Amino acid sequence: MPGEGDQKVKKKRSRARKDPNEWGKKWLVDTIDDREGVEETSSIYMDLLDRCRTERESVAYWRDLLKENGFLDLREGSNDDPVPGTGFFLTNRDREILIGIVGETPLIDGANFVATHLDSPRIDLKPIPIDGDRDTGLGILRTHYYGGIKKYHWVNIPLSLHGRIVKEDGTCIDIGGEENEPIFVIPDLLPHLSRKAQNERKLSDGIRGEEMLALCGLSSIPEEDNRPPIIEEVLEHLNSRYGIHEEDLISSDLCLVPTQGSRDIGLDRGLIGSYGHDNRVSAFCASQSLLLMAKEGVVPKRWSIALNFDKEEIGSDGNTGAKSQFLELALYALLDWSGHRGNRRELLRTCSRSFCISADVKSALNPTFKGVQDIRNSARLGAGITITKYTGRGGKSGANDASAEMVGGLRRLYNKEGINWVMQETGKVDAGGGGTVAKFMASRNMDVVDNGLPLLSMHSPFEILAKVDLYMGLKAFSSFYTKYPLE
Ligand SMILES: [Zn+2]
Repeated sequence: MPGEGDQKVKKKRSRARKDPNEWGKKWLVDTIDDREGVEETSSIYMDLLDRCRTERESVAYWRDLLKENGFLDLREGSNDDPVPGTGFFLTNRDREILIGIVGETPLIDGANFVATHLDSPRIDLKPIPIDGDRDTGLGILRTHYYGGIKKYHWVNIPLSLHGRIVKEDGTCIDIGGEENEPIFVIPDLLPHLSRKAQNERKLSDGIRGEEMLALCGLSSIPEEDNRPPIIEEVLEHLNSRYGIHEEDLISSDLCLVPTQGSRDIGLDRGLIGSYGHDNRVSAFCASQSLLLMAKEGVVPKRWSIALNFDKEEIGSDGNTGAKSQFLELALYALLDWSGHRGNRRELLRTCSRSFCISADVKSALNPTFKGVQDIRNSARLGAGITITKYTGRGGKSGANDASAEMVGGLRRLYNKEGINWVMQETGKVDAGGGGTVAKFMASRNMDVVDNGLPLLSMHSPFEILAKVDLYMGLKAFSSFYTKYPLE
């Protein structure tokens, strides 16, 4: 990301915004002069997308990068007092990472958090995944999808196996991302024979959960006993490749993710197509801004912290999700480090004086399905970062519903800093809905508001993001860390 003031936002845009009828008619793409900054940010981000297909891989990426750049791993402890400007991080079970920079004011006076998540919808393997089909001689991986997907998106595309296997002796084997890795596919039915078998089903039933069988081999041996021989063949391959046995698969976190890497989309190359924008793009903007602040020697007024959770796509449960008390434990440790007693009262005080952006991707207006959006309250690709006052469904149920004060503070900041932003809600009233980690942060008595970058094809194997939005997201979170709240 460029330094401050490198990009000039033309004045004409803010004039346009004053007239609500002009809403959305001026595009961000016209207002950024720093094209080089946009491309540079995009290329760093696309490299991350290609390396990080799971939350574990994302945590490893950030941990290595932060270490290289002098951030303290607080698990290793620190003998020094927290000097303003010091970068630090703390991981939880290799699946969650908290990244921070010590601020000038005491932590007990509150921090600025950006809360995101690193997990993405995907196709997990069942605990006993390997099966064989006697009639076809095909090896099959049985799967159980993770997160809210449209299952029919995931057939007939190359899928790669990623994750960790824990062997009986406790050794961990991480797989995925190797060159020339074997790939897998969930085969759909040909159109010629789909008329009765599939076309009369509801779209959501086009492929059912138990039909998501990924091909993993073709038998070369005729069947002799009750167990299809292909099972043994697949196991032999796994054994020679990774040194594992069938029972080792029981103690594993294995998933199938799209093999296709990130690509520029469009003749102008203005869009990025990739698996996993949701929500590695928010984690990137939140964490990369801290990394850049540290590199540039920027000392924030308040402690600045990126919370990169796991498990958001399945409700934030689990000990690496936003509902876990890892955050409390981390804050106790940080208060301790700051010379406080680190008791519960101090913790509550810290949280109640903190501000939080819950950063997650948002639905962009889709040219084919505009009917699901209230156009005046929707986001568009290329129009900047969204401020989303509430999420939820059925009368805002499950929403944080940010206060007018918090939205007002952010609006003032973004206007002052030349950040392009739009107000957004998930869709028309009662059209559906969704949620983020906002409510879990708000339950800690923080002031929280949702922000995010608009996507098309969200939760599909190939989600679409605008490069200029990415650039603006990074700039927005940097300004939140360093300048919020405005004096
Ligand atoms: Zn999501």
